[in-house]
Amino acid sequence: MPLYRPPSEGNNLIIQATLGCSANYCTFCSMYKTKTYRARPLDQVLADIDQAAHEWPTASRIFLADGDALTLSMDNLRAILNKLHETFPGLTRVSAYATPKNLIDKTVDELRELKTMKLSLVYMGIESGSTQVLKRVIKGASHKTHGMALDNANAAGLKVSATVILGLAGRAGWEDHIASTAQLINNHPPTYLSTLQLTLDEGAIDEFMAEQEAGFEFQDDDAILLEQEQLLKLLNPPKPVIFRSNHASNCLPLAGNLPRDRDKLLDIITAAKEQIHLRRSPFIRGL
Ligand code: SF4
Repeated sequence: MPLYRPPSEGNNLIIQATLGCSANYCTFCSMYKTKTYRARPLDQVLADIDQAAHEWPTASRIFLADGDALTLSMDNLRAILNKLHETFPGLTRVSAYATPKNLIDKTVDELRELKTMKLSLVYMGIESGSTQVLKRVIKGASHKTHGMALDNANAAGLKVSATVILGLAGRAGWEDHIASTAQLINNHPPTYLSTLQLTLDEGAIDEFMAEQEAGFEFQDDDAILLEQEQLLKLLNPPKPVIFRSNHASNCLPLAGNLPRDRDKLLDIITAAKEQIHLRRSPFIRGL
């Protein structure tokens, strides 16, 4: 522990294939700071799968934890996915978090092979399409490498659920943050796109601020709604993208398909800009 999983994996079986995150340097993220990354010994993972099957033989959707199980070698992933396949006759989907690096380090053929073994969905934190913003939060990725990672996943037929963090560039940098992010999504569309609001653990604030330019100011909810509005205005993906802002951090939950529902979502934002009672209060946002 701690163990994290995406909200949409809440009803699914979780198998811990790795511990921690192989990157673990992003300044805004405290999820795995108490863990040193390591791959769990394969025999232990396979034993966990046997035990899980005993408890829940009909499990059909399985999430491989922790932070980026896709970093495992192909041999390890093959062994784990084969075991899941043999053990759960009703298996329909395996998913995992993935860093952009994970999706670039593996070839499209390797990703395609994983897909044939039912690893069909990866969750990737884009955070921003702006290389400058990504540098300041030590993401270890750029606009270009994000695009390469999304292209590899798309070419292999993997679904990508991507997240973007509103507020990440602060008051001075938000326009470049949003414009670059929209450009990235328009050129390399994922299957799902979610926005989160920047929320730092108290212990992470100093590390985050140490990399920012002097005078960095955090965005308030009014400014976040402006970012959300501008992002939706600029998004025009060539294929439908399922959009959500239902993460606990968001002041305004939204859901729709882009570009089809853009005007409807913009109307909801306009109303929430004018009427504060339409927004979620901070005390129910898990902040
Ligand atoms: S790659 Fe993801 S899980 Fe790892 S430190 Fe960065 S944001 Fe956190």
